[in-house]
Amino acid sequence: MVKTRDEVPVEDRWNVEALYPSQAEWEKAFDAFIKDRQKTPYWPDVATMQGTFDKGVKKVKEALEKTFQIDRTLTKLYTYAHLRHDEDITSPTYKKSYEQILAVAHTFAQETAWMQPELLSLSNETLENYLADPSLKEYRFYLEKIVRMKTHTLSPESEKLVAQAGQALQTPYKTFNAISDADFQFGSVEDSEGVEKPLSHATFGLYIREQDRTLRERAFKQYHHKYLSYENTLCELLTGQIQTHQFNAKARHYPSCLEEALYPKNIPTTVYHALVQAVNDEIGVLHRYMELRKRILQLDEMHLYDVYVPLTKSIDIKMPYKEAEDLVIESVAPLGKDYQNILRKGLKDQRWVDRYENKSKRSGGYSSGCFDSLPYILMNYKNILRDVFTLAHECGHSMHSYYSRQHQPYHYSDYPIFLAEVASTFNEDLLDRLLIERCTNPTEKIFLINQKVEGLRGTLFRQTMFAEFELLIHQHVEQGTPLTPQLLKEEYRKLNQKYFGPSVVIDEEINIEWARIPHFYYNFYVYQYATGISAAIDLAEIVCTGGHKEQEAYLNFLKSGSSRYPIETLKLAGVDMESPAPVQSAIRKFDQLVGQLDSLLSSRI
Ligand SMILES: [Zn+2]
Repeated sequence: MVKTRDEVPVEDRWNVEALYPSQAEWEKAFDAFIKDRQKTPYWPDVATMQGTFDKGVKKVKEALEKTFQIDRTLTKLYTYAHLRHDEDITSPTYKKSYEQILAVAHTFAQETAWMQPELLSLSNETLENYLADPSLKEYRFYLEKIVRMKTHTLSPESEKLVAQAGQALQTPYKTFNAISDADFQFGSVEDSEGVEKPLSHATFGLYIREQDRTLRERAFKQYHHKYLSYENTLCELLTGQIQTHQFNAKARHYPSCLEEALYPKNIPTTVYHALVQAVNDEIGVLHRYMELRKRILQLDEMHLYDVYVPLTKSIDIKMPYKEAEDLVIESVAPLGKDYQNILRKGLKDQRWVDRYENKSKRSGGYSSGCFDSLPYILMNYKNILRDVFTLAHECGHSMHSYYSRQHQPYHYSDYPIFLAEVASTFNEDLLDRLLIERCTNPTEKIFLINQKVEGLRGTLFRQTMFAEFELLIHQHVEQGTPLTPQLLKEEYRKLNQKYFGPSVVIDEEINIEWARIPHFYYNFYVYQYATGISAAIDLAEIVCTGGHKEQEAYLNFLKSGSSRYPIETLKLAGVDMESPAPVQSAIRKFDQLVGQLDSLLSSRI
């Protein structure tokens, strides 16, 4: 029986009262924040600053201070409302508060929307003088991040025109979603015993990992044949999407689509190329893993519908929450006493975590909070191993938030996405290390290592293959080569041959796989999965095998929030993403795990 929210004991709930003692107190704070909801602008003193940025550095500083101060209160109000809303998404009181604060946040964004364009409209000379002014010292980097966009910002009329085209330019992606997620029906497939099984995106992911080979093969073929029969439409959609990237790149004077996608976050394109190059150089490591799979599965021919099936039967590792909590705390020992004590106190005394499912609670797991709150973690803990990893992952985010908020001023206390998943994946790796090292049951150990190997294969190798394909098709369009289904299928097939190697039969159906991957519509997004996991794995290795200096460097990364560009922050931690070294290190780790798996499995035969 799932409890209602009222029945959840206090110790299992997050301590939202630390933000505002009650809903009534929140409402009082909200009313004090927006005194008259009927009258806009809500913040007349921000509105009167418009048009003053050319009147001296003092005006810019005033505007920044004022808006950060409003933003800080707004975020605190928002955090309480969203946490409460997620506790019980059917509660009308919490829903109302949540919608109120969202509306206010929207108005705030509108009422401050003039600031960035006004700043960018100043002459280069004025901007240089402002940036050099000692009174703006604490905001210099914040402003620099805005100012570096100046060369790619258009005149106000052109910006307006580009913005107006925005909605229409979303058509390829929206149409892809509509056809792939709504219109397509995949029918059903028969398993080896003649039982009809419904085929969908979700069940395909399950069937391809089933021990029943007939089911795997039929699901694989039928699923991809659907996309094959629409190859012309899907090719046009992907072409249309790349043309929108090209439109934006050209309009904003970027030399290529890749530059356009990476420049705003200041990720050098060398990071992208270093990833692809490093994986290509070591691709033999993946081939060796495929050979091991073929041997262990005892197949004469290993097909692409055989490459996801687990090498052991799935094992149910059950773990109550308290045990998971202790294990996660223990796993972070390589980060030192300070880190471990803060996390222990947070989990055990300060109630960061909302532990279990209750009626109408939001599903999944996340880490949240704001500058003036504790870190908060939403869980729906159900005693399975995956949940233990989710807890470790979210603790990684929460400790990153904790350190950045402690050590940075408000405007640098958030961290960019590029860094966020490094800290969380790092903690998952620490948990993996502890579990694998401690495991004495060989079957369990095989299961754990196999799971880790599969995770790395999916995130490091597969996403890099996607990244390579994505770059290739953009380059074709940039060079004026029209994309045809034939060309896309050929290019995609070649990549699969390269990545899977000689021991796998590259079935015809895989040629069309590109047509079903939504990420190809995300504008150079997937490479971040691969760089993120590489940085995390390499850093975990550096910290676990290093000493005090390495530990300190990692903690400094957690403490730096957004006070530097992500690549510089990672350099501070000890990894240079412009070099192939972190990716090479992650591949080495993969190879070691495959070796371990090989000896464990071989000793059983
Ligand atoms: Zn995460």
